[in-house]
Amino acid sequence: MQAHTNSYYAHSANPQPARPALQGEVTADVCVVGGGFAGISTALHLAEKGLKVVVLEGVKVGFGASGRNGGQIVNGYSRDYDTILSRYGQDTARALLNMSFEGGDIIRERAAKYDIKCDLKKGGFFAAFTDRQMKFLERRREVWAMAGHTDTAMFDKAQTKTVSDTDIYTGGLLDNKGGHIHPLNLVQGQAVALESLGGKIYEQSRVTHIDDGAKPVAYTAQGCVRADKLVVCGNAYIGTAVPELAPRFMSVSSQIVVTEVLGKDLTDRMMPADYCLEDCNYLLDYYRITGDHRLLFGGGVVYSGAEPSDIKNRLVPHIEKTFPYLKGKKIDFAWSGNFALTLTRMPHIGRLSDTVYFIHGDSGHGVTTTHLLGRLTAEAMHQQMTRYDVFGNMRNYPFPGGRTFRVPLTAMGAWYYAMKEKLGM
Ligand SMILES: Cc1cc2nc3c(=O)[nH]c(=O)nc-3n(C[C@H](O)[C@H](O)[C@H](O)COP(=O)(O)OP(=O)(O)OC[C@H]3O[C@@H](n4cnc5c(N)ncnc54)[C@H](O)[C@@H]3O)c2cc1C
Repeated sequence: MQAHTNSYYAHSANPQPARPALQGEVTADVCVVGGGFAGISTALHLAEKGLKVVVLEGVKVGFGASGRNGGQIVNGYSRDYDTILSRYGQDTARALLNMSFEGGDIIRERAAKYDIKCDLKKGGFFAAFTDRQMKFLERRREVWAMAGHTDTAMFDKAQTKTVSDTDIYTGGLLDNKGGHIHPLNLVQGQAVALESLGGKIYEQSRVTHIDDGAKPVAYTAQGCVRADKLVVCGNAYIGTAVPELAPRFMSVSSQIVVTEVLGKDLTDRMMPADYCLEDCNYLLDYYRITGDHRLLFGGGVVYSGAEPSDIKNRLVPHIEKTFPYLKGKKIDFAWSGNFALTLTRMPHIGRLSDTVYFIHGDSGHGVTTTHLLGRLTAEAMHQQMTRYDVFGNMRNYPFPGGRTFRVPLTAMGAWYYAMKEKLGM
């Protein structure tokens, strides 16, 4: 039986009920494939509307990116407003902007409503290394204000030292609607909430294939779910179960390490305001303090989703550059996880047939968007299409290069942008 990856989150997770594997045939109004943020969020939105929902999870709730990520509640998308505006036009850009804070609101509302213990903290900080990055953040602040979000502040170098005790940044943007969480506890807490509303979750129940007809069916090795509607939320871990989705995303891994317990005195010195931080580089670092006073530090990407064997060696130099006085501190946990990258870097939702929906491709910024897209998918099932169609109508393209060349082509593209950034071009 497969278990969670050996992460800090699995080590510090709240207790969960035992969940069976699917045996035989069951029926539901809606069957959700995948027990990450997207799947559990969708299921909970639907159960709150009174539908009978069954979730099929291949391993355990939160096994994928949702139980392994940096835990940063980042508002917005993986592409900035001006790029979205030039690509999709004014109406789409404004509609997306207006929805960009809703995912974070859903997280905070649910944590309060269902009393989910997930170390929820307020405040996210975007750190800049250069004047160009500062300008980019100033523009982000201006754009967010257009949508009514003004609870933000630009910080200069000295103020930034009150967020992170380091000299490497020029300044940054504080987002008081950002924040951080223990993501595995958040997704599992929502799973328990779903069950309290009558939803059923089967674990160790990998879907091998689906039938997308008028009455769709999801098949596992030992059973099947017949439903009126099906939502596929396997993201980067979907494998070959739904082949139509494969060309539309690429698995990309990101890595995280967590130090030994450093103690409150030291972590208060490192990050006095207890915000989370991500930098503005193309290949970015992100970090925060955990509830038990460790440093959780992530960064690095591997196109193809392979897990590197030297995670500590990759990330420890970044930690020591940021906080030189942490040299020699022990690393207790190191792991990697996969997210689904789309060619447009925008999340991808849609339908494979009249009855089968899918959500995937948050492209590395999915903590908030998965919660939003779950709500929109539930709205679509109740014939409220306006907001759903804003995402659903954005064109998504297959990666060029086919199966053989798409990974090296994407890696070359990323290298090009990272080099441009290093050279200040
Ligand atoms: C290391 C890392 C750090 C990140 N940090 C951040 C961050 O700080 N902030 C942020 O906004 N985003 C972050 N992200 C991205 C974010 O975690 C993801 O976008 C988000 O969790 C995706 O949620 P999901 O539900 O779509 O997919 P997942 O969480 O991957 O869930 C998919 C689930 O489906 C199951 N599944 C797959 N196929 C099948 C099948 N055939 N049958 C049954 N079950 C199946 C899997 O087992 C898995 O549990 C990070 C990602 C990674 C990997």
